[in-house]
Amino acid sequence: MALAIPFFLTLIGLEYWVSKRTGKHLYNFNDTVSNLSVGIAERLLDGLTLGVFYFVYDYLYQHFALFHIQASVISWIGLLLITDFLWYWYHRLGHEVNILWSVHVVHHQSEEFNFTVSARITLFQAIARTFFWSILPIVGFSAEMIMIILLIHGLYPFFIHTRTIGKLGILEYVFVTPSHHRVHHANNDQYLDKNYGDVFIFWDKLFGTFAEEIEEPTYGHTKPLHSNSFLWQHFHFMLEMAYAFKHAQGWKNKLTMLFGKPENINPTYRRVLEKKFVIHKTDKQHSTRFRNYVVLQISLVLLTLFTFLLFAHQLDLFTQSIISLIILITLINCGAILEQRRWIFYLEYSRSFLILLICFIQFNESINPYFLVILGTSITLYFKTLNRQYLRLIYG
Ligand SMILES: [Zn+2]
Ligand SMILES: [Zn+2]
Repeated sequence: MALAIPFFLTLIGLEYWVSKRTGKHLYNFNDTVSNLSVGIAERLLDGLTLGVFYFVYDYLYQHFALFHIQASVISWIGLLLITDFLWYWYHRLGHEVNILWSVHVVHHQSEEFNFTVSARITLFQAIARTFFWSILPIVGFSAEMIMIILLIHGLYPFFIHTRTIGKLGILEYVFVTPSHHRVHHANNDQYLDKNYGDVFIFWDKLFGTFAEEIEEPTYGHTKPLHSNSFLWQHFHFMLEMAYAFKHAQGWKNKLTMLFGKPENINPTYRRVLEKKFVIHKTDKQHSTRFRNYVVLQISLVLLTLFTFLLFAHQLDLFTQSIISLIILITLINCGAILEQRRWIFYLEYSRSFLILLICFIQFNESINPYFLVILGTSITLYFKTLNRQYLRLIYG
């Protein structure tokens, strides 16, 4: 998993280079930062929860398996087909049932379409998917086989999130191609709720949800999210759903808010909640210095994640938790900076505190505790001045 990071980053770099060379507008700064932030959080949390998923599959296999299927060419092909079939329904219901849409919605928030969009997967999505994948051990596939096929099945979609590849001839009949998946991410009327497949396209043809790419799509939600906030992107629909549930009359209507279609939720609720949580998007052109600050943070976080995934097994749980927390705070921070939030100074404050804490734990022999006391006292005394200086520095 760690090694996938430099591999994907190289391909993202290559796509960016192509976009610059051909003059095609494929990348937008805010969208790219958001996409990578969502992806980094998922990789981090998934790294920590993968063992739990394995345990679930193994437990179901040991206790409830209908058959015990041995590994062979036929059974691997069968497993891939069943996995992809389950994905089709997970994905389709993810668009048609509110409670599932509340976790899949994050994947569709980008208004650009490039390799970084494939990173827009969340831990909540991984949990929701696990319910669908749980059918696999019950059918009789071992946890080892399932983990291997899910790795392959999980890598494939990276390659279909691009506008740099046109139609692929005969492959278009069997596999989900970039052209098919562009249609899935489009908000044009004729493309809505189409092409749910992950690896194979024939499920869509079979169940009547196939559409061919004819005109160039436009991307993103039909009701775009006016926010770069990392937290708002993750939780806005869950909050809208909870709000709709609270205000619906009678149990039948309340249940419709959870299990009905997204269009059942009153679209004005979003506005109400945006006001309540003071969400506003700033499309302001950022200065180069400002951009560099964000790019530096994202790069450092990617480097930390890479090293963390490589060596996590050698760290104790406490250090793992602190590093994870620093990464998550940094991601929230990048979104908040893009929104020009003034409270990010407090985030910076807690991040510095955690970094100091981790340094102290690692090198407590060589760090003088008096130094920390003096540092702590001067930061507290100059809190207001530091706050003003910091905000002036990054927001001009
Ligand atoms: Zn989707
Ligand atoms: Zn996608």
